[in-house]
Amino acid sequence: MVLADLGRKLNAALAQLNAAPIVDEKVLDAMLKEICAALLESDVNVKLVASLRQKVKAKAKAALESDANKSKEANRRQIVQKVVFDELVDLVDPGVEPYKPKKGQSNVIMAVGLQGNGKTTTCTKLAVYYQKRGFKSCIVCADTFRAGAFDQTRQSATKAKIAYFGSYTETDPVSIAAQGVAKFKKERFDVIIVDTSGRHKQESELFEEMVQIGEAVQPNMTILVLDASIGQAAEAQSRAFKESADFGAIIVTKMDGHAKGGGAISAVAATKTPIIFLGVGEHLADLDRFAPQPFISKLLG
Ligand code: GDP
Repeated sequence: MVLADLGRKLNAALAQLNAAPIVDEKVLDAMLKEICAALLESDVNVKLVASLRQKVKAKAKAALESDANKSKEANRRQIVQKVVFDELVDLVDPGVEPYKPKKGQSNVIMAVGLQGNGKTTTCTKLAVYYQKRGFKSCIVCADTFRAGAFDQTRQSATKAKIAYFGSYTETDPVSIAAQGVAKFKKERFDVIIVDTSGRHKQESELFEEMVQIGEAVQPNMTILVLDASIGQAAEAQSRAFKESADFGAIIVTKMDGHAKGGGAISAVAATKTPIIFLGVGEHLADLDRFAPQPFISKLLG
């Protein structure tokens, strides 16, 4: 189920409130059943869905039972709608402020994630995003694992007129990362984005490499790049990366496709880390800023 379908199903569940003559516990339960089914179908983690159900029920019941709200039916609908809205926002809001790059200093951003999730593409998109906002931006390609990774960076960075650093001969990603960051710091770049290698699955070598690169470049912010189609594997994968790379932000890619997206949403709660951008296409401008409230408002359209 793609995200638009989820929005439609959530709306249909909320519409039950309007159809019912009285919003009572039975109506509340029926609505919650549909909401939870829609979230589960979208791959949102089962524990998160259970917790949302319980919180909505408790808050909505308490509000409906308060004397002030006992009489007016329109108020009662609005109260339940607001409780649902707030809990959906909570699902994608860990209540943590992500790092914000500051001008006039070097901000090192390290991107981590499994191969194919869209890391290299996202690094260039990010560099373009910050460059457009007046940050002198560049990319360091520390992915020595995937053949062609540096060529991909070189091509997309050249196209986007972004400075880049990498090597065809150096095989040590830690050394490349350190060299590139030192060079760009000396040249007073504001935003220095370090692209790391991915592998196909979670492996101890990959996590060890992330630790070493992190120690070498001391990132101000590490970003986990997650494919929207990740599904139920999101929790384990994001926790594993959190332990080695301690990322402080998440970017979910391929939100334009047929992915369900709910798995990636589960990574927010599993790691208490905010999503900061959504990748919405293959072009360099296809990067949307993410904020919990507008996202849920748009989802419910
Ligand atoms: P990496 O191995 O993690 O560095 O992944 P790449 O950056 O090479 O991306 C893998 C594939 O996903 C490429 O074909 C990208 O064009 C594509 N891709 C990356 N981000 C997005 C996105 O937001 N939307 C779509 N539709 N494709 C994307």
